[in-house]
Amino acid sequence: MMPAIFKTFRFRLFLSYLALSAAVLGAAFFLVYQRIDRAELSTLKLKLSDEAALVSAQLSSADLASAGINQLAHSLGEKVASRLTIINADGLVLADSELDAAGVKAMENHRERPEVAGALGGAASYDLRRSATLGKAMLYAAYPVSFSGRPSAVVRLAIPAAQLDTMNSLLRKALAAALALALLLSFFVSLAVSAGFSKPFDKIVYGSKKFASGDFSYRIQKDFHGEMGKLAETLNSMAASVEGNLLRVEIQAQQLSAAFANMAEGVMVTGLDARIKALNPAMERLFSVKAAGSISKPLLEVIPNAGLSGICARAISGGKPVAEEMELSVPVRGIFSVNASPMFTGGEVSGCLMVVHDITEVRRLEGKRRDFVANVSHELKTPLTAIRGYVETLLEGAIDDKAHAVEFLNVIHTQSRRLDNIVSDLLKLSSLESYAVEVHKSEVGLKDLADSLISGLASVFKAKKAAVVNKIPPGLTVKADPEKLGQVFVNLLDNAVKFSAENAKVEVSAAELPDSVKITVSDSGIGIPQEHLPRVFERFYRADKARSREMGGTGLGLSIVKHVIDLHGGAVGVESAEGRGSSFWFTLPK
Ligand code: ADP
Repeated sequence: MMPAIFKTFRFRLFLSYLALSAAVLGAAFFLVYQRIDRAELSTLKLKLSDEAALVSAQLSSADLASAGINQLAHSLGEKVASRLTIINADGLVLADSELDAAGVKAMENHRERPEVAGALGGAASYDLRRSATLGKAMLYAAYPVSFSGRPSAVVRLAIPAAQLDTMNSLLRKALAAALALALLLSFFVSLAVSAGFSKPFDKIVYGSKKFASGDFSYRIQKDFHGEMGKLAETLNSMAASVEGNLLRVEIQAQQLSAAFANMAEGVMVTGLDARIKALNPAMERLFSVKAAGSISKPLLEVIPNAGLSGICARAISGGKPVAEEMELSVPVRGIFSVNASPMFTGGEVSGCLMVVHDITEVRRLEGKRRDFVANVSHELKTPLTAIRGYVETLLEGAIDDKAHAVEFLNVIHTQSRRLDNIVSDLLKLSSLESYAVEVHKSEVGLKDLADSLISGLASVFKAKKAAVVNKIPPGLTVKADPEKLGQVFVNLLDNAVKFSAENAKVEVSAAELPDSVKITVSDSGIGIPQEHLPRVFERFYRADKARSREMGGTGLGLSIVKHVIDLHGGAVGVESAEGRGSSFWFTLPK
């Protein structure tokens, strides 16, 4: 395995620089070496041939055939510090500065030696080769000795090639040292250059890694120029725009999830496989499920209702929204408005978005309103029909029958009073139910209020010979709207007498509870059967229909009581035993 450093951009750059400079330096030094080498050789050749020329000039006057020639060759050879050989035109060696006469004689014919052949041709000639006589590499230079214009002999000088080699090796050493120095220099230069180049690169790589890991707030330190500087600038501005976009997306996601979490409607997302992907807290509340345990489970398993699953399946298969009102009994009871819309990803349906709205209460209220209208119409119709019937009878002639006419007029009077009662109770109720209802609270002395109302109803009590006792402790006060509270007392006292036989006993009392005052109106009347008790405070509800009508009741008195007490933040209730009497109570907060 290659160590990591060798793979770095910096190392590669350094290596390339080094290799390049080594190659260039090597080539340059090789060329220089060759040049110098060649120059050395030619200088040496020139020197040898100059010396040979000098020697040949001296010899041109000497007698080459004389016995002393070898002696001359010795002394001349010493002077030029080279081996000196004199060869005649036939190639016969006449003298040699390094051999005695016998040795000279033993030498073979030199005519074929390239330098000798060249010189005999009339020009200075050279050769570099191994000497047959001395057995080592020699550089030869031969020069013709002219005798009356014709080459009559050849002077040959020879030096050992070793001399050249020593010079070459010296040169090589010097060059090698220079090359080494140059390489060392280029090593450091490469190091510096690669460091200079790789520093911005390293910074960019580091920044890119930061961006890749999601840290878009990082900025590449830009203390360099050129392409690298531009690259860093581009990366920085890209990071800035990604950061901005991320922030926007994050805010949008937060807004969406806040809306999702706080919507009153239940929202659920399912995939194509009908498995739940998300559901909001409202959905959890509606169907008593937990999002944590429902995600990735089939919808039908989490909310076992085929209707709900079916509506999603239809939205997905139809590719368009489906809206339906569903009355469910499993897993919960209620009426729901369900909207299922297909969700699209890249133009393809990818799931279903279901919005569920619990409209049970809305529908219940609508039902109540319908019932109310029907009840009102019915309540009004009865007296109106009676009135119309009697009026028609009178018109048809009964008016002349004095005795009956008075009777009929009395009925008409009673029925019209009943109509009046119903209409005024309805008006009271509707004003209590209206949003603009005003409650003018003040400190109300309960005992005094009850006393004044009891005396106001004296004629009613007298007619029934009823005995009313006010047991409210004096000085007990509450914060309430006196007029509305008076209406409560009147309705309860009126009922107490209305639903009692003659000589009824009615008692008004009050007790202080920890944070409220409880007021009770009890009677010894006919009482209310148990099954009616929960409903007596409803509008038009009558436990004893016949008696209520007979007594001119509207069935609205107790609902007015309940409304007023509701407005005061209190509670109402009743305890009753059939045939023994009833106790209606209400509380008012202190
Ligand atoms: P109504 O106009 O008929 O009195 P209410 O709303 O005042 O209407 O009372 C509703 C019904 O409750 C009455 O019809 C009656 O059947 C029953 N009720 C109310 N007060 C008493 C009571 N003190 N004793 C027995 N029944 C009562």
